[in-house]
Amino acid sequence: MNKLGVHALVWEKGWSRDECARAVARSAEVGYDLIEIVALDPEAIDVAFTRKQLEQAGIGATSSLGLDAESDISSNDPDKTKRGQLRLEQAVAMARDIGATHVCGILHSAFQKYAVPTTAEGVARSVEVLQRVAEMAAKSSITLGLEVVNRYESNVLNTASQAVEMCKRIGAPNVKVHLDVYHMNIEESDIRSAIIETGDYLGYFHTGDSHRGYMGSGSIDLAGVFRALVKANYQGPITFESFSSRVVGQPLEGILGIWRNLWEDGFDLASHAKQYTEAQLKAAQEAEKQATRSRLV
Ligand code: MN
Repeated sequence: MNKLGVHALVWEKGWSRDECARAVARSAEVGYDLIEIVALDPEAIDVAFTRKQLEQAGIGATSSLGLDAESDISSNDPDKTKRGQLRLEQAVAMARDIGATHVCGILHSAFQKYAVPTTAEGVARSVEVLQRVAEMAAKSSITLGLEVVNRYESNVLNTASQAVEMCKRIGAPNVKVHLDVYHMNIEESDIRSAIIETGDYLGYFHTGDSHRGYMGSGSIDLAGVFRALVKANYQGPITFESFSSRVVGQPLEGILGIWRNLWEDGFDLASHAKQYTEAQLKAAQEAEKQATRSRLV
């Protein structure tokens, strides 16, 4: 069964002790199985305190980050790739210490708009570093999720098929594809077939909608998305990601372009997303059974 998660930025923009305690408690109160903790600066996270909050609330965690220009592992500057590997290793160590199961996000390149396309050499460098980080992550049973994002946030992975190819090149069983409906809506020709074709390579999934606000209040065919997840027999985490200018701060606000206030009340937003996701999953599971239920007698 899929574990349902909620992104920390639905609750808080930072991860001070107060912010951590509130975000974890609220995620559990709504009934989520896990919270996705932002690890842009993994060393700034108080691991002992975070672990204790998670244990007290009885929920799990995943973690996400994007590299930056100075730690871009697809760069041709060896200092940058070295910094990138270190940052990914710090994120894996943090995830291990708080008891998280996944490290996902833009692990393959910088989280930014590039002015030039990537190169075969750039992709090869990214593959090499991720092979080393995957080995370390495997020792703590941590899965790495390579997030496929739109063209304004990376020049390496913009479509699901590119990410499947990258996973094949890395060749580690704990490196999977991380898909996100918001990005898929911008880049994929057909969201449903992209999910189905990713198949067993899919290891993490972000829900949301076209404007990153309330699920179902945008223009994405979410019923089709959930039918594809069920058809692909996807069993991994499904995490709701949403941003409003009410919560998000810099640098994410600037990189993601969060100018509009799409919601005021994170609790109402997260409660709605959980109910919506459960209803969509149930509907998609029932739809899968229709063929056997409708055989001609
Ligand atoms: Mn995402």
